[in-house]
Amino acid sequence: MRWHPSTAMVARHGAMPLAETQWVQAYIGLGANLGDAAAAVRAAVESIANLPGTLAQSKSPLYRSAPVDAGGPDYVNAVMGVRTILSASELLAQLQRIEQGAGRERPYVNAPRTLDLDLLLFGDQAISTPTLTVPHPRMRERAFVLVPLADIAPWLVQAQELHAVANQRLTPIGA
Ligand code: ADP
Ligand code: MG
Repeated sequence: MRWHPSTAMVARHGAMPLAETQWVQAYIGLGANLGDAAAAVRAAVESIANLPGTLAQSKSPLYRSAPVDAGGPDYVNAVMGVRTILSASELLAQLQRIEQGAGRERPYVNAPRTLDLDLLLFGDQAISTPTLTVPHPRMRERAFVLVPLADIAPWLVQAQELHAVANQRLTPIGA
């Protein structure tokens, strides 16, 4: 809940007592390919919408995609737009907590997963730490990110980028 200083407090302190809260527009990529993957993605959308300090803004349709660089069942993917007062690292920690809650294990790289939540964009920030790279380094190569991102934020995706991934199999499967 956003906190608005009362007129009385502003009068007492002579100025806004707190700096204006900074809301950042972020985009999150969701994917799952074990069990009921569509149900896992829909549940994750709900979990993200319920995160502290975070407002859900938009959600793409769900898509089915072939695994990239890995075997296993098809993925179900979507992209969500949120506004948040969390920092990027706090948001990542919350996303990882939701992944764990969905039973995510990491036995090996690109292993099938019950739920994968990637922080795609965090405002216009470029972040490079050992645990977080934003924009997500591979997002522009992946139809399952670019197409749903273009559904909810077409100004962030160029036609030529969509053209470059048009050979990747991606099927809309509804809300
Ligand atoms: P991937 O999503 O690349 O298949 P994982 O979900 O297992 O792989 O993530 C591996 C690590 O990637 C995480 O422990 C996390 O610290 C790191 N990471 C770096 N940048 C990001 C990002 N933008 N979003 C999510 N995880 C990230
Ligand atoms: Mg991930």
